[in-house]
Amino acid sequence: MRGRVEKAAEAAGRAADSVNLIAVSKGHPIEAVRAALAAGQRSFGENRVQEAKSKFPELRASAPDLELHLIGPLQTNKAREAVALFDAIHSVDRANLAETLGHEIARTGRAPKLFVQVNTGEEPQKAGVAPRETLAFVRQCGEAFGLKIAGLMCIPPEDEEPSLHFALLLKLAREAGLNERSMGMSADYEAAIRLGATHVRVGTAIFGARSNV
Ligand SMILES: *Cc1c(COP(=O)(O)O)cnc(C)c1O
Repeated sequence: MRGRVEKAAEAAGRAADSVNLIAVSKGHPIEAVRAALAAGQRSFGENRVQEAKSKFPELRASAPDLELHLIGPLQTNKAREAVALFDAIHSVDRANLAETLGHEIARTGRAPKLFVQVNTGEEPQKAGVAPRETLAFVRQCGEAFGLKIAGLMCIPPEDEEPSLHFALLLKLAREAGLNERSMGMSADYEAAIRLGATHVRVGTAIFGARSNV
């Protein structure tokens, strides 16, 4: 998979190492993660705090350079655990969560890389700030809560052309002066890389189908 990501980057005229491949291990057992670690993979993504907690603390002992990304929604009451456990949080999407993260980061001195999730399709059931509110929210995160936002993240609607959403996320990130874009999954990571993804989140194409997540 790493090779395919590097090829896609080069085909887009970008450096092979400009895209971070996050192996999304949600719904897969710890043995699957161990096998990926043995093959050299170091960045992993989980969408639930509890599940990540059940797998990763013991894996970190054997792979101190492992990087763990939270890619799913974060409840405010789990912010403390999330700051302690994750190296990156891709789902900052509301003021009270940003405020709580700001307190935890100040208290612990641990500063995970933060992405603001944008609901590019404005789907009512999906998390994320609306595109037109993104710039103001990124500014509020910094000015009101002391958070350094690294980039933006999106999950395009299932029934729409993802490239439109990737292009919108790239435009919003540029306007906000942010250098990182978390976009692209198994089915559309190549399009995302063409449109400037710095982090692709790939589950099925690495680990196979999930049973129940
Ligand atoms: C599950 C998940 C992925 C990975 O999806 P695949 O289609 O299995 O590659 C990526 N991003 C998020 C936010 C997810 O929840």
